[in-house]
Amino acid sequence: APVIGVLALQGDVREHLAALAGAGADARPVRRPVELDAVDGLVIPGGESTTISKLADIFEMREPIDKRIAGGMPVYGSCAGMIMLADEVLDGRPDQRGFAGIGMTVRRNAFGRQVDSFEAAVEITGVEGEPFHAVFIRAPWVERVGPGVEVLGRVTDGPATDRIVAVRQGNLLATSFHPELTGDLRLHRLFVDLVRAAS
Ligand code: GLN
Repeated sequence: APVIGVLALQGDVREHLAALAGAGADARPVRRPVELDAVDGLVIPGGESTTISKLADIFEMREPIDKRIAGGMPVYGSCAGMIMLADEVLDGRPDQRGFAGIGMTVRRNAFGRQVDSFEAAVEITGVEGEPFHAVFIRAPWVERVGPGVEVLGRVTDGPATDRIVAVRQGNLLATSFHPELTGDLRLHRLFVDLVRAAS
């Protein structure tokens, strides 16, 4: 099974570990550079991007993760994790810094100005079956994508209809919502396949 880490500095680490294991990965928490060396792919969980950013420096994980991303390691970020993968962040804190890698602009807490949390249907390109029952919690949306970024999903109902909430660029995958919270393993399976194909 592909070995997939979950960046375990802050956020809903346990839920991602369970979803990855359910999707057939050998899932492990990653907190230190030596643990990162042992994985073929990495999930950056939902949580708080400003905190994850700060802890990435304190735990000296920033440079190792930047290097692995530059080397083509597959990474999947949900919510705060999406923010950490964006080349540009609007409404971020001045001192927050992501790993970047996806040529997109995200707006932090974007939906929060209307509603803090909501659920909506999202269809994801490359995922068969029913639309995702997507859960958004103070979520970012994608405001702009550059060339090379594939839009995988948009909100299909409710006040945020048509907002981009799932993207992929090469081996980097990001969603505004939290499939790890709803027991729907299709996105984690997609990511496990991506890691398998890359390693
Ligand atoms: N608002 C959070 C942030 O800025 C993201 C929320 C989440 O991950 N559920 O990082």
